[in-house]
Amino acid sequence: MKPLLKKLLAPPRIEYLTLNQDLIILDTSFGVGRFADSEAGRDSVLLPSEVRAGTDVRAGFPELIGVEDILKAVLQGRRANFELKGIARFSDPSSPLYIDLYATADRDEETPEPKLVVFFEDVTEMMVLKQSLVQRANEASLLLSALASSKDYIDKIIHSMADALLVTAISGHIKTVNQATQELFGYREEELIGQPVSMLVADQQFLRRSSQRLGFLSEAALLKDVEVVCHRKTGEKITVAFSCSAIQTEIKGLQDLVYIGRDISDRKRAEAEIRKALEKEKELNELKSSFVSMASHEFRNPLTTILTAAALLKEEYSRRQTLDKDTQLYLQMIQTSVKQMTDLLEDVLVIGEAETGKLQFHPEPIDLAQFCRDLVLEMEMAQKRRPTGTASGQAITFVCQQECIKACMDEKLLRQIFTNLLSNAVKYSPQGNPVRFELTCENGEATFEIQDRGIGIPPEDQKRLFETFYRAKNARKLPGTGLGLAIVKKAVELHGGRIAVSSEAGAGTTFRVTIPIERGRQTNDGDVIS
Ligand code: ADP
Repeated sequence: MKPLLKKLLAPPRIEYLTLNQDLIILDTSFGVGRFADSEAGRDSVLLPSEVRAGTDVRAGFPELIGVEDILKAVLQGRRANFELKGIARFSDPSSPLYIDLYATADRDEETPEPKLVVFFEDVTEMMVLKQSLVQRANEASLLLSALASSKDYIDKIIHSMADALLVTAISGHIKTVNQATQELFGYREEELIGQPVSMLVADQQFLRRSSQRLGFLSEAALLKDVEVVCHRKTGEKITVAFSCSAIQTEIKGLQDLVYIGRDISDRKRAEAEIRKALEKEKELNELKSSFVSMASHEFRNPLTTILTAAALLKEEYSRRQTLDKDTQLYLQMIQTSVKQMTDLLEDVLVIGEAETGKLQFHPEPIDLAQFCRDLVLEMEMAQKRRPTGTASGQAITFVCQQECIKACMDEKLLRQIFTNLLSNAVKYSPQGNPVRFELTCENGEATFEIQDRGIGIPPEDQKRLFETFYRAKNARKLPGTGLGLAIVKKAVELHGGRIAVSSEAGAGTTFRVTIPIERGRQTNDGDVIS
């Protein structure tokens, strides 16, 4: 055998067999049986029958079926060699065997007939390695394409964001910008990358603050919605609300800054306009209320003079005993009209104070049951004093289960509330219909209910009753200003209470006022501790 062949045979993973021109096995190496396609060959130390001398090689190596002409050409020297790589034997799937096969002619001088030598090399290790490498490479390429598509996805999100997004290195140099940033500042991406962020953000203090906090907070927002003045490429100044957070870079301990900004210039402009309009409105309101209060005071004096003059005239006529019925009626009409005008002026003044937040609230200890009783009495007296023909003459029934309810409320405001509600109940009820005024006390709250069986309020008017000057359409024939309920509402609110109305047109109305007895503590016997 040639020295080269001997050398090739040296490693144990290579076996061989020699064949004659009819592909009959002439000779074999000791372990060639394990490469044959034979059940017995792999485990047995003996050669399986398929690869023993005198057997057709194709019985043990069916891969050679069909390539006989090539083998003949090798044997005849027309072809240098023949090789078949990666033949797989899978008798046990958990331990596959891979073989490379080489066939070459052996023209030994000692033998006249040339022989075909077929070498088998066990390439399992290499093949398994190759396969796992291929598998890893496939996995890596899958991972890469997943990464690429997720980067692509994130890029799409970033670029479709309506907010401007900027990523800078810790040095403040811009690393990434999205489409919205380019549109907002009017620069192209390549004009921004690598440039200091200060070329966009004029507020140096904001930039210092964001990088100073970097060491303390990471990934959470360092700064949120900070309004920063920036400039566009054109030099135009804009206001941007920026949030800033830190993200870890691939280098450990090194962070980048992510800025997300929204142009709020329009909002700022609108806010400034609204502020200006509000200031103007406030000025006008102040002007209006100072005019109203001045005019009311100016009206009061002549009205008082008229009232006094009417009273003096009445007295004088009585003294001279010349006060006939007509004169008395005229004088009474003067007094009633002046009283109405004074009440109206009082209401206008109160509403003006309430609208400008100047309505005073002075809570003091008060016995609610007694207060209500006195008020009802006063109103009945006032009704009686009215000239004949003008009195409504309703009886107000006050109902309260408790004798004494101590509370801490503003008596003057309570008077405004219940005089208005009770006089409305009387005014909007046909003569003779009763008015019920009930006081109950529960869970630290006093509830006052004023119920009448009057004209009621149409549903469409009920929502707007508490607006100044609003009057329901069924009430317009009766005198009124539409100011009473607006005052009532303000006074209830000053007490931290609430007011509700339920009414049915033609059937009657109930107003319910609920006021905390005291915002402090209350003892069992009703005493309030402040
Ligand atoms: P006014 O001076 O007109 O009575 P208010 O502010 O006191 O003004 O009341 C506003 C409107 O609410 C009244 O014009 C009337 O339409 C309606 N209203 C108030 N109380 C009653 C009631 N008890 N019954 C029917 N309508 C009422």
